Order: sequence, then C-alpha cells, then structure tokens
Amino acid sequence: MPIVQTESEHKSPVNGSYFARVNPADGGCLLEKYSEKYRDFGFALLANLFASEGQHGKVIEVKAKRRTGKLNFVTCMRQTLEKHYGDKAVGMGGTFIIQKGKVKTHVMPAEFSSCPLNSEEEVNKWLNFYEMKAPLICLPVFVSKDPGFDLRLEHTHFFSHHGEGGHYHYDTTPDIVEYLGYFSPAELLYRIDPPEETHSYGRD
Ligand SMILES: [Zn+2]
Repeated sequence: MPIVQTESEHKSPVNGSYFARVNPADGGCLLEKYSEKYRDFGFALLANLFASEGQHGKVIEVKAKRRTGKLNFVTCMRQTLEKHYGDKAVGMGGTFIIQKGKVKTHVMPAEFSSCPLNSEEEVNKWLNFYEMKAPLICLPVFVSKDPGFDLRLEHTHFFSHHGEGGHYHYDTTPDIVEYLGYFSPAELLYRIDPPEETHSYGRD
C-alpha cells in the first residue's frame, strides 16, 4: 500500500507505506509499516500509482451506503466515468474509507511463486484470500478505459489500524456497507515498463 510524500522545499519526505503478507506461522495476515528495516524488499511485480502535488484544491467526494448491485465501489465509479466520457480515458486516484462492513481481500504469500502462474486459477491458488473488517483505508487508482497501454483498469489496496491490509475485491456485507471517498482526476498517464508478453488474468 504505497503512500509516500516526496521531499519538497518546505516538507521532508515521509514514507507512510504499509505492506501485507501471509504469516508463514499461521496463514494469517501480517500488516507492517514499510520501514528502513524492509528497504531491501524494494519494489517488485506491479503497482498502480497516483501522484499529486498534494496541494489544496477541489476534490470529488463520493459517499455510498448499501450495495444493491454486483459491482464493487471502484468498478461502479469507473463504469460511470466510461458511460459519460466514452472513448476518452479518464484516470482517477485518491482515498476512500470503508466505514462499515467487511470485504473480500487477498494477500500474497511471503515468497513469490517458484514457478510461473499460467492461469487465473493458478494465481488464485497461490494467493491467500480473507474477509477483513472495517474501518479500512483504501488507496484506489482507476482508469475509465484502456487507451491501448495494456492497463489494469482498477487496483485498490488498503491498510488499517487493526492489523489488516490487502487487495480490495468487493464488500461482502451489501446491506450495511458504507464508503466515503475523496478523488482527483489525473492529467497525465504514464505506463512504465509494460510486459512484453501480456495476459488478461488477475486483473480484478
Ligand atoms: Zn493488488
């Protein structure tokens, strides 16, 4: 869950990132702050990141209570943008809090798979799935449609102050779930180091 403030004239850098991994001892989730101690973990695999100057200004507030359809919170916003803007790709990022309810989530094992994962099924077998409870602080990045960069259209990781964190799939408590989020539209899209051979699984 990368959340970083870079150094500027009046502010020193802050790395507020967390990471979650499967606890090899009991199969539970281990959420830890990304500190100097873990510097060598570096950055691997993939990430969808939203960068802003962190200045004051207008943002978009979205509040939602009760889920009546099948789609998750982010997919609803993404598809709404796509319906409105059509072929024009609109990217957004920000923060939302799941204030009530539970979510289905996954966490990666401590070690990467020793063999290639060649299907959605193999990826899901390797990942560990959990149900985690509110309040959860989520860091979404989403694009209304792929303008041809082989993008993952939405990606949301979350952390909490009660030891849970992971990759957000959807809430499992539609009747009581509550979301509150703040978002900004993006001005530029950068696609860095795309894979030479691509595939479509593991993108939700
Ligand atoms: Zn993820």
